[in-house]
Amino acid sequence: MSDPAIFLHQVERRYVQAENTLEILRSAELAIWPGQSVALIAPSGAGKSTLLHIAGLLERPDGGEVFVGDQPTAHMDDDARTALRRIEIGFVYQFHHLLPEFSAAENVMLPQMIRGLSKAEARDRSSQLLTYLGLGKRTKHRPGELSGGEQQRVAIARAVANNPRVLLADEPTGNLDPKTADHVFGALTDLVRMSGLAALIATHNLELASRMDRRVTLRDGLVVELD
Ligand code: ADP
Repeated sequence: MSDPAIFLHQVERRYVQAENTLEILRSAELAIWPGQSVALIAPSGAGKSTLLHIAGLLERPDGGEVFVGDQPTAHMDDDARTALRRIEIGFVYQFHHLLPEFSAAENVMLPQMIRGLSKAEARDRSSQLLTYLGLGKRTKHRPGELSGGEQQRVAIARAVANNPRVLLADEPTGNLDPKTADHVFGALTDLVRMSGLAALIATHNLELASRMDRRVTLRDGLVVELD
């Protein structure tokens, strides 16, 4: 089997408050392989956002290591982490955070141009992705002219525009009605399989989680496989 796309090894995270220490992650282990989608299902306060932030190199663990591909990241300074995050990690949030003044295509082109691609290259990739996600006829629309499900699909296209190794999502369909959520979720998991991404998706929706490759939860600061 190939190496994991992302591997959290003995990850620790605690928050120290006046008298208490909250041990959120105690020795968390999680490996996700290319093309695999993993649902993260846990009650509020269990540490889902903490785990996603650490996997996304937004937050540093207090102990342990995060490998992105075969690259260890614990020793990296903030600039190196930011540079690696831009290349290797895509994020999708519950709210789309698209730029309202730009079209769907431009929202997907911008991260590519920031990375140094030409406008023509960025436009080609953007239109491929948007077409794949069923938005081929909406590329010139601004976010305000799109439905909630369409906005979220643009956000997914933007997250994967630079062909990252890992996709992290925090309740990506939490803001959508069930039918739209189902549709957006299908698009997301198809994209994961097609592109060989590794995806970690926090969700409360057990029906959607059941369609992913694996399900994990957080228990006493550990990542535990469900099923
Ligand atoms: P979830 O996403 O599962 O709801 P979080 O990862 O946001 O959980 O938070 C896990 C726990 O850590 C919660 O009890 C929360 O109150 C606590 N926590 C999160 N961030 C901080 C912080 N910066 N300082 C202190 N406690 C925090």
